[in-house]
Amino acid sequence: MTGKRYKETVVAAGVTMLEEGLTVGTWGNISVRDPETGLVYISPSGMDYREIEPNDIVVLDNDLNIVDGARVPSIEKETHIAVYHSRPDVNAVVHTHPIYSTVLGVNGMDLPAISEDFAQIVGDKIICSIYALPGTKELGQNVAAGLGKERNAVLLPNHGTLCVGEDMKTALTVSHVVEKTAQIYILALSIGTPQLISAEDIKAMQDYKKNKYGQR
Ligand SMILES: [Zn+2]
Repeated sequence: MTGKRYKETVVAAGVTMLEEGLTVGTWGNISVRDPETGLVYISPSGMDYREIEPNDIVVLDNDLNIVDGARVPSIEKETHIAVYHSRPDVNAVVHTHPIYSTVLGVNGMDLPAISEDFAQIVGDKIICSIYALPGTKELGQNVAAGLGKERNAVLLPNHGTLCVGEDMKTALTVSHVVEKTAQIYILALSIGTPQLISAEDIKAMQDYKKNKYGQR
C-alpha cells in the first residue's frame, strides 16, 4: 500500500468510528502502521472526523519524529507507538470513548468473553488497565501492559477503550464487538448473573476461527 492509501484508511476509519457511535466529537484517535517501513499514520489532534482529509494525517517514525504532515498529531501518540513497540502483530490501533465500555472502566471491571464473536476476535477477556493521565507516556506503558501479547483490546479506566488488529478493518471490528459485548454484559448483570464460557470452549472457538471459519 502507498502512503496515500494509509492516510485514506485513517480518514475513513475516523468517519466509521463516529458513525457507529464509538466516540463523540473529536475524541478518540486512530493510526495504522505500514509493516514494510514501520511508519505510523495517525489522526491529527482535535479535528472533526468529518473534516479530516488525507493531508491532515501525520506520519511518525518509531521515535515519535514527524516525517510527514503539517498538523499536530493526536495527543495519544505515545500510546499508539507504545502499542506498536510491544505488539509486532498489530498494524492498526483504534482508541475510542464509547459509553458501555467506559462504564466498565469507571467501575474498574474487566470484560469477560461472554459471546462467541468476542472470544474469536478479541480474546479470553479484556482487562481494565491502570489509570494514567491522557497524553502521557505512562498511559502508553499502562495500556501496552494491559493489552498484553494476546488480547486485542484493553479498557482505560475513566476514559475509554483501545482496540487493535492486524489491519484497520479488524481493529474497527474489534472496537464494535467490544462495545456491543460491554452493553450485553451490563444488561445481563442488571437482571441476573452472566454465565461465563469455559476457558476450554473459548480456546476451541479461537482455534475454529483461526483454522476453519470463512471462505476457503
Ligand atoms: Zn481518549
